[in-house]
Amino acid sequence: MADIRNIVILTGAGVSAESGIDTFRGGGGLWEQHRVEDVATPEAFARDPDLVLRFYDMRRAAIQEKEPNRAHAALARLDAEWPGDLLIVTQNVDDLHERAGARRVLHMHGTHLNAWCTACDARSRWTGPLIDRPPCPACGARALRPDVVWFGEMPYEMERIYGALRAADLFVSIGTSGAVYPAAGFVREARELGTQTLELNLERSQGSAWFDETRLGPAGELVPAWVDEMLG
Ligand SMILES: [Zn+2]
Repeated sequence: MADIRNIVILTGAGVSAESGIDTFRGGGGLWEQHRVEDVATPEAFARDPDLVLRFYDMRRAAIQEKEPNRAHAALARLDAEWPGDLLIVTQNVDDLHERAGARRVLHMHGTHLNAWCTACDARSRWTGPLIDRPPCPACGARALRPDVVWFGEMPYEMERIYGALRAADLFVSIGTSGAVYPAAGFVREARELGTQTLELNLERSQGSAWFDETRLGPAGELVPAWVDEMLG
């Protein structure tokens, strides 16, 4: 890990798992007994908006009960103390990175704590329910949906992510299976650019072969140890 100045960190479900947040991919494509295609696609929202809004209302309430864990705290420390460029690209839609104190965070799959107005395109911080069709704070339309990227939708800020990857000396993937594109392509992009690559994950992932180094174990142990190394 010599000559590292700019770092891009991708975080996935494995970082939030130790905070008690479960995910689609933990349980055979089910998420709290719902199939992905019934709650997390634009087609599902068009077909049964009440089901989808109620489901996301439940998730939005649940994450507000959770607390950041040691992995979030370590990454927040790295963000605060790292002198070079750093970007935490997270696939997670919770706000645990931010609540741990991290500031350089990009939510490529959106966030539970925003509502997105499909009438005026405004995004508003949102902590309560959407099931009763509250008005958009910006335009008043009753057209709010969760600001979460559903399956089949384009992740956010891909140009900014690829820009950060091009400038990075180190790409680190933490707690993600490597199975979902486009995030799964980041390591290949990094390798083509000659960037050092490191994977921290509970188990070997589908993408492990692409990394220069893979360390296996719980994020709550691996991440603080790695951050200690980086900050020397
Ligand atoms: Zn609006």
